[in-house]
Amino acid sequence: MTTVAKDYYGILGVPRDASADDIKRAYRKLARQYHPDINPEPSAQERFKEINAAYEVLSDDQKRQIVDLGGDPLAPGGGGMGGPGGPGGGPFVGFQDIMDAFFGTAGASRGPRPRTRPGADAILPLPLELHETAFGVEAPITVDTAVTCQTCQGAGTAAGTHVATCEVCGGRGEVQSVQRTFLGQVVSSRPCPTCAGFGTVIPNPCATCAGDGRVRTRRTLTVKIPAGVEDQMRIRLAGQGEVGPGGGPPGDLYVEIHERPHDVFSRKADDLHCRVTVPMTAAALGTRLTIKTLDGEETLELKPGTQPASTLRIRGKGVPHLRATGRGDLFVHLDVRTPTKLTAEQERMLRDFAKTRGEEVAELTKQGGFFSRMRDAFNGHA
Ligand SMILES: [Zn+2]
Ligand SMILES: [Zn+2]
Repeated sequence: MTTVAKDYYGILGVPRDASADDIKRAYRKLARQYHPDINPEPSAQERFKEINAAYEVLSDDQKRQIVDLGGDPLAPGGGGMGGPGGPGGGPFVGFQDIMDAFFGTAGASRGPRPRTRPGADAILPLPLELHETAFGVEAPITVDTAVTCQTCQGAGTAAGTHVATCEVCGGRGEVQSVQRTFLGQVVSSRPCPTCAGFGTVIPNPCATCAGDGRVRTRRTLTVKIPAGVEDQMRIRLAGQGEVGPGGGPPGDLYVEIHERPHDVFSRKADDLHCRVTVPMTAAALGTRLTIKTLDGEETLELKPGTQPASTLRIRGKGVPHLRATGRGDLFVHLDVRTPTKLTAEQERMLRDFAKTRGEEVAELTKQGGFFSRMRDAFNGHA
């Protein structure tokens, strides 16, 4: 009986001269893709077996040599290598390789996890006024954080005592269980529940920190906010986060800018916008306006005949650009106010004025008819 040798290289999609690393990488990628727990396609399970078989063969120098010579080390009698109970450990590669494929734990040392770990990063919101975000400020902040326990210097043990090897896991930090699955017998491990994966226990914890190696405290520090920051920006204070368990290095603290709304100015990027109301006469005749900016005053010239909803731009009076020279602009949006309460004298003057411009308007009667009159009045006038 002749068996056609399987194309193990083709199954993994690697060239025949692929390095061991290439093969491993290709295998991990495919195993992730076709694992039956992830891929519900009925064909995935078969494909997954093939991938595992191909990896078993190509990751083993001797079996790979048989393949390169045209044989099939997994075929019955083919090459006489491997097989159940053989050095290859059965038809499937070790569970560790599969776990590696999924959790990317390859190369990571197994066994107990260290008690000393890096601290977590923290985020602290910092409310600021517009002039503070615009021009920068040194703001005191109060941080609730974890610092190294001074009693045990982070070790977590009471004075004169030490950690002890965990008796449940024998110091390995993990316990194993054996399951039967479609892949055959699979040994899985999980963190030891007694020592939480550390491999050691603390028989006499430090009374101050209860074994954590750190205590919570509140401290105040000053953060320098540069000019031009924006709402929601974060400023990183390296090493100002909480220290890690077991005296581990501290994480970073991020100060998140929360810019408070301003009474006068609204901000769009580095430009500012404000509204200014001017009387109708000023818009018609033109005038000089004094505008309060974020950091001073500016005199604006309103040209005669300025229309309602005009916008004036004052260059360089917006927010300074962050870590750059220059500033945004200030946009002044004009609201032209029509007079509401006219004295008899003012009304007469306005009517005379209208008359001289050929803009005569019909007088309102007490009975109404307002809208039709308005329409008639303005008909034909631009
Ligand atoms: Zn302590
Ligand atoms: Zn243990």
